[in-house]
Amino acid sequence: MTRREELFALARATKGFMPDDEGAALYDAALAACDGTSTPSIVEVGAWCGKSTVYLGAAAEETGAVVLSVDHHHGSEELQEGWADFDTELVDPADGRVNTLPAWQRTIAVAALESCVVGLVGDSPTVARHVRHGVTFCFIDGGHGHDVAWADYRAWVPLLGEGGVLAIHDVFEDPRDGGRPPFELYRHALSTDFTELAATGSLRVLVRSGRGAGE
Ligand code: SAH
Ligand code: MG
Repeated sequence: MTRREELFALARATKGFMPDDEGAALYDAALAACDGTSTPSIVEVGAWCGKSTVYLGAAAEETGAVVLSVDHHHGSEELQEGWADFDTELVDPADGRVNTLPAWQRTIAVAALESCVVGLVGDSPTVARHVRHGVTFCFIDGGHGHDVAWADYRAWVPLLGEGGVLAIHDVFEDPRDGGRPPFELYRHALSTDFTELAATGSLRVLVRSGRGAGE
């Protein structure tokens, strides 16, 4: 088994919301974006138990990149009790709150990706306000409510320079397949200086062209 196969197998076995083909496409896109870039940075917004983090970590390990994996680890609104994806195994008995940080840390440790994956535990727009340098690849898969999704977009997308790559998850053209906000972000990006590179399932990969530094 190659290292890549080992990591893909681990990602597939990790709890989360990333179908196998979309995970492989996420890896391919991050690898292509980081390959040949000096000190490439990957940002992941929304890590949950580390499934997508491992795909991104595999690309980081091969290219010398670092993944900044951002999550407050208490789950999005749609991951709380009463929603379809609520998982009682992830509730911390000490306070009754969802807490995916221990599972995420275990995933990254088992994957032996601790040297190229850094966890940033906190509110995504708050973290973004303190990240200064250019981001090579940004994967947005945080909360899917209107305000949180747009807050992530507005916080992180300005940090992508020309040639920077934006990946958005859960983009559904048909409202019957899923919520609107990720699709709205995708449409908005296309109406600015992004062009589409690839689409796999609900994953969309876009690249920033021109000199746009705006949103
Ligand atoms: N990429 C993951 C799934 C992410 S689920 C996978 O491959 O399985 C969405 C995640 O976004 C949850 O873990 C939730 O805690 C996180 N999240 C939601 N809103 C957030 C915010 N404002 N700041 C940080 N993390 C947030
Ligand atoms: Mg998702």
